[in-house]
Amino acid sequence: MSRELAELIFPNITKTPEDYEKMYPARNLPEGAMVTRFAPSPTGFIHVGSLFGANLDRRLADQTNGVCYLRIEDTDGKREVDDGINLVINGLKVFAIEFDEGPTSEIEAKGDYGPYLQSQRKDIYQCYAKSLVEKGLAYPCFCTAEELNEIRERQEKLKVVPGYYGEFAVCRKMSEQQMIERIQNGEPYIIRLKSPGSMSRKIKFKDMIRGTIEFPENVQDVVIIKSDGLPTYHFAHAVDDHLMRTTHVIRGEEWISSVPLHVQLFQVLGFEMPQYIHTPTIMKDDEGSKRKISKRKDPEASASYYKDNGIPKEAVIDYLMNILNSNFENWRKQNPLAPLSEFKVDPHKISSSGALFDLVKLNDVSKNTIATFTAEKIYKEGLEWAEEYDKDLAELMKKYKDFTTAILNIERTGTKVRKDIAKWSELRENLEYLFDEVYFEKEHEYEWQSITDMNEIKNILNEYLKLYDENDDKDTWFNKMKDLAEKLGYAREVKEYKANPESYKGHVGDISTVIRVGLTSRRNTPDLYEILKNLGKERIEKRFNIL
Ligand code: GLU
Repeated sequence: MSRELAELIFPNITKTPEDYEKMYPARNLPEGAMVTRFAPSPTGFIHVGSLFGANLDRRLADQTNGVCYLRIEDTDGKREVDDGINLVINGLKVFAIEFDEGPTSEIEAKGDYGPYLQSQRKDIYQCYAKSLVEKGLAYPCFCTAEELNEIRERQEKLKVVPGYYGEFAVCRKMSEQQMIERIQNGEPYIIRLKSPGSMSRKIKFKDMIRGTIEFPENVQDVVIIKSDGLPTYHFAHAVDDHLMRTTHVIRGEEWISSVPLHVQLFQVLGFEMPQYIHTPTIMKDDEGSKRKISKRKDPEASASYYKDNGIPKEAVIDYLMNILNSNFENWRKQNPLAPLSEFKVDPHKISSSGALFDLVKLNDVSKNTIATFTAEKIYKEGLEWAEEYDKDLAELMKKYKDFTTAILNIERTGTKVRKDIAKWSELRENLEYLFDEVYFEKEHEYEWQSITDMNEIKNILNEYLKLYDENDDKDTWFNKMKDLAEKLGYAREVKEYKANPESYKGHVGDISTVIRVGLTSRRNTPDLYEILKNLGKERIEKRFNIL
């Protein structure tokens, strides 16, 4: 027992682990409820891989009536941005991922298992470290950077595993009296775990994605408390996930090789192990070869990319769900409108090899997602995006709210729903030619098709104007188009024309193309009848007149 040493190192720690056990009792949750957590450093940056993990945290807690909380891992002192916590909270809110417990702002939090900022849990970590020192399971280490370097060089020469362990762990062998003296002399130190591991033994653990994994035991006397009194990631993970009663630790696969250490920490601390789910790294196809998606090279590595480009949250989450469970895509096809909560995520079905993230595929998913939206929702969300990223478009959308909504409503229901919008940043391209302010400002390249003779074109447009009536229903309009075709020497039906091409100048389709292009300059637009109806005679005439 090293009570004197423990008291000397942590004189201000008066609570015991038992006190904390009482303060944070087992959660009262239904059988099978998962307690998950999202535990980022407050860097202000949310990686798409973190979004993937946070979504999984949220889904698993939801589908088991569990709890999903936010914990901020801010123990490395160098916070990159001041507003880091808010940026995380708001960055995830964009995707409708919110937490049941945890910080709600830079200064506030909710939940009974806090504080949720690691920097505010110093006493808790120190209490557990103190108890380990007292039990002889941890010790102070006075090695300087130079001494550690020497050890490393010696290990390199000997070609042995690097690190602080066995015969190389010099401070481990010091007597308690020596330690006390050096501390009293004011020498700086850190606290290390006294690893009970052996290189010849193996540990097994189960990862829900990867199954049973076997590793050699940890033998390293890792640092648990740094010189600033704060814990390392490993120690904080064990203490926090135990006290916050996490049942499932979902984190990136880069942590897998640390599990032997974590298992050991949970053992020496006397904690029950959580389940692990190590999520695959998000990969990208780069000219035929797979590589890690990179914050530096790939804008889509940042969660903010999706908001900036106006990809709806539902589409991003649906796409992440596709990557997560391959059966999601099919489920979504069958249940296009169902809330996500109706899909049961199966952690065992997550692929363990790097998840391929494909923007083209996301684009498709997004088109399908937007195809399920009403015109009102598209207007509202598109406008919100435009207010931030395309102010001119926002002004036009507001000025012509009903017109814009009516245009967005074309082919919105029925068997052939239009799928021409994948993101709000495409709305301008999709709408602007219908706003006269924009249309008459531009030089147009008319995409004429089979009829290119300008006299013929003008004749068709003039004749069309004569018969246009805003109140015609679609059938009446279409019959009038056929009459017009016939009158001008074109076939009423495409098949009549095909059967007898030499008898006609063309067919009714050629006529409607001329009207479409004359009206919009483009060949592809939503339903022509609807566009004509929404523009109205005066505006149609104005457009024809500039030809
Ligand atoms: N702060 C760690 C990270 O950002 C968290 C890992 C974990 O979830 O335990 O990688």
